[in-house]
Amino acid sequence: MTEDIKETFRKQRSHQPVVKLSIVEERIEKLKRLREALIARTPELKKAIYADYRKSPTEVDLTEVYPCIVEINHAIRNLKSWMAPARVSTPRSLFGTRSEVRYEPKGVVLIIGPWNYPFSLVINPLVSAIAAGNCAIIKPSELTQNTSRFLKDFVGKLFKDKEVAVFEGDVSVTTALLTLPFDHIFFTGSPRVGKIVMEAASKNLSSVTLELGGKSPVIIDESADLAKAADRLTVAKFINAGQTCVAPDYIYVHEKMQGELVTQLKAAIANRYGSNPEDRRKNPDYCRVINSRNFSRLSQVLDESVKAGAKIEIGGERNESERYISPTVLTNVTVESPIMREEIFGPLLPVLTYRSLEDVYRYLRAQGEEKPLALYIFSEDRGRTEELLLNTTAGGTCVNQAILHLANPNLPFGGTGHSGVGSYHGVFGFRAFSHERAVLRQGRIDTFKMLYPPYTDKVVKMIERVTRYLS
Ligand code: NAD
Repeated sequence: MTEDIKETFRKQRSHQPVVKLSIVEERIEKLKRLREALIARTPELKKAIYADYRKSPTEVDLTEVYPCIVEINHAIRNLKSWMAPARVSTPRSLFGTRSEVRYEPKGVVLIIGPWNYPFSLVINPLVSAIAAGNCAIIKPSELTQNTSRFLKDFVGKLFKDKEVAVFEGDVSVTTALLTLPFDHIFFTGSPRVGKIVMEAASKNLSSVTLELGGKSPVIIDESADLAKAADRLTVAKFINAGQTCVAPDYIYVHEKMQGELVTQLKAAIANRYGSNPEDRRKNPDYCRVINSRNFSRLSQVLDESVKAGAKIEIGGERNESERYISPTVLTNVTVESPIMREEIFGPLLPVLTYRSLEDVYRYLRAQGEEKPLALYIFSEDRGRTEELLLNTTAGGTCVNQAILHLANPNLPFGGTGHSGVGSYHGVFGFRAFSHERAVLRQGRIDTFKMLYPPYTDKVVKMIERVTRYLS
């Protein structure tokens, strides 16, 4: 396997100059082929993901196919302007020159994917990599084996491996890939593995985009419309059974509104997923936890939190053989509760209360560099919303909504601090996979040569005069 990887890397290195020279029409043609194949093979993709963790085929359309189509269409529409050299202005000191930024492909890139959206989280970066003119090696997650197998076949039929190749396998494969001197590494996964990737990248001075995770809070202020907030949060949290990097991790609500919020959350869960435990378990729209390790982790954190005083308001039902955990809401949770220790990444939604927003700001600031990937604000008060934005930070934010910021290709998608390095989607993805090459052209009038050595009295005076003129 290691020899295979090295051989493919060598082939991509030697083919890269050809791909680099591809013109806009050629890159668009590749994106169109990708789109057509995706549409034609969506039924197979749905089967593969269903076999991996019983995800609803409709949710596959919504969260795997649709985002890729949006990304491809957006790239096709805008690629010409993205690829065009960007003229920049010239300072007075450089009179007689012209400057521009040119976008060159980084070269041969590595894309490492997670299991939770196993298709779109490698294909979307691939769209940016192709648009920018790169060769790419993809390493999908080993936890979604059916989808990984599908990906290998899907990509294999679209591209020669000297341009795009897929390597399936476990950590040993990722480790082998990470020894190679890629021009860029695009990683989506946990902050823990993100550190491993960054350390490996440093050995070859490869640049990195790290799309990581963490706890994404929701803050609900006193002016919020609780029925709307509860409904939107229910869908954002329980889609993919909470296994979404930007899923609302926990809710902070004003203490006097907690009762009403919980009532509304119960109603929204009943409405969206079924009014009793049996209906919810049988609901075909609600998927399973990815594997038994994650099932035990979630089960344990739920039990420990209840032991520490948390109250299950709704849900809490589990079935180990099916890896089923029902949509669950917890109250009586404090920041010391076990469920607040790390990213939940499952269908458990704790509700915490505050008396003053200062308490929330203090808690979030105390997290230091563990800045959230997303933070959601529910408020009908514009001034308060602005105050909340100014006093917090996050990779991205929705106001009176959750998750949807990642669906707008005009917005950068990425984290900050421990939630990630860099961003992608749309032009931000194109730039992540491009080198911004600075080009200055000297025109006929060369004023600079008056300042060249030898530094005679005349030149010294000229430099003094220029310095005075510029300051
Ligand atoms: P993970 O970090 O365990 O795995 C991601 C990838 O890294 C997999 O391909 C895996 O094979 C590889 N990997 C695992 N251990 C490794 C090691 N020791 N050395 C080298 N490679 C290794 O993440 P996951 O469980 O697949 O996904 C869940 C995490 O990903 C969550 O933290 C979630 O928030 C985050 N995530 C982030 C985004 C985003 O866009 N920011 C999207 C989805 C998931």
